Amino acid sequence: MANEIPEMVAITKVVDEAEGIKTLFLRKKIDAKPGQFVMVWIPGMDEKPFAVGYLNSDGFGVTVAAVGPFSTKLCSMQAGDRVGFRGPYGNGFTLRNEQRVVMAGGGYGVASLTLLAEQAKERGIDVVFINGARTKDRMIYERRLHKLGARLIMTTDDGSHGVKGKTTDVLLDVLAKEKIDKVFACGPELMLKKVVEICAEKGVAGDISIERYMKCGFGLCGHCCVDPAGIRVCVEGPVISVQTAQQLTEFGTYHRLKSSRKEKFGAH
Ligand SMILES: Cc1cc2nc3c(=O)[nH]c(=O)nc-3n(C[C@H](O)[C@H](O)[C@H](O)COP(=O)(O)OP(=O)(O)OC[C@H]3O[C@@H](n4cnc5c(N)ncnc54)[C@H](O)[C@@H]3O)c2cc1C
Repeated sequence: MANEIPEMVAITKVVDEAEGIKTLFLRKKIDAKPGQFVMVWIPGMDEKPFAVGYLNSDGFGVTVAAVGPFSTKLCSMQAGDRVGFRGPYGNGFTLRNEQRVVMAGGGYGVASLTLLAEQAKERGIDVVFINGARTKDRMIYERRLHKLGARLIMTTDDGSHGVKGKTTDVLLDVLAKEKIDKVFACGPELMLKKVVEICAEKGVAGDISIERYMKCGFGLCGHCCVDPAGIRVCVEGPVISVQTAQQLTEFGTYHRLKSSRKEKFGAH
């Protein structure tokens, strides 16, 4: 059972992962599944969800991209600073009896998929991992994924590293060449929308992790409900199946801001 009152915990280490992306390791042992998230609180500022990206013997790590005030503040923190934490929350990814899977990650979406890939490799599952970033400088976890022994394909929008193009172009290519039991994906919503279309068209099972603005994180406030099904992303998600995603009219179309106002994807 997750704690619902934030606990102040110490940052033990800060690691530069890529340009504007850092991992904060927190001294707190948690039992989390890949795809679950924690709420991180900076007193006097805000509280936001972050996927668990590392689990180790004395704590866990979250990988944060500095995009706005909160994430920039987190990225400026040092070892010894303290943040509030509660969780883990959400359903997370589940491996069943797949033999060969593709994991397609974009940006910091690679974090939870890497934890999943570690579990999959322990079970002897053949993993094709597509690690997508805008540019080489923004690519995370490359060394960690190499060590894991997954079949790693790097892809960048500008071709500065690996294959030039979109993660989803590589996904299409892999599905055309190999029999894949399941696709797992995490990344920007427009990428996930394409993943869903590809899985549906190719008849391949798929689970994706989606993001919505969250306040409570444990299903009470309803802020992260998605239209028209009313699924609470913090409880029934953030991992949803391709079939569920296809039923959501707002998926890939709009999301809700902190104020609940709807905003179209791509508005910024
Ligand atoms: C389940 C879940 C898991 C998450 N896991 C992570 C994680 O592991 N790492 C992480 O860094 N964030 C993660 N997030 C996002 C995180 O919670 C914050 O929304 C994010 O850090 C931005 O917060 P902010 O207050 O700094 O910026 P905001 O004020 O919310 O945004 C500032 C500006 O940046 C834009 N923006 C927001 N997000 C992005 C983005 N990803 N790329 C480009 N522009 C963006 C906004 O449209 C806005 O214009 C997760 C969210 C959810 C729901």
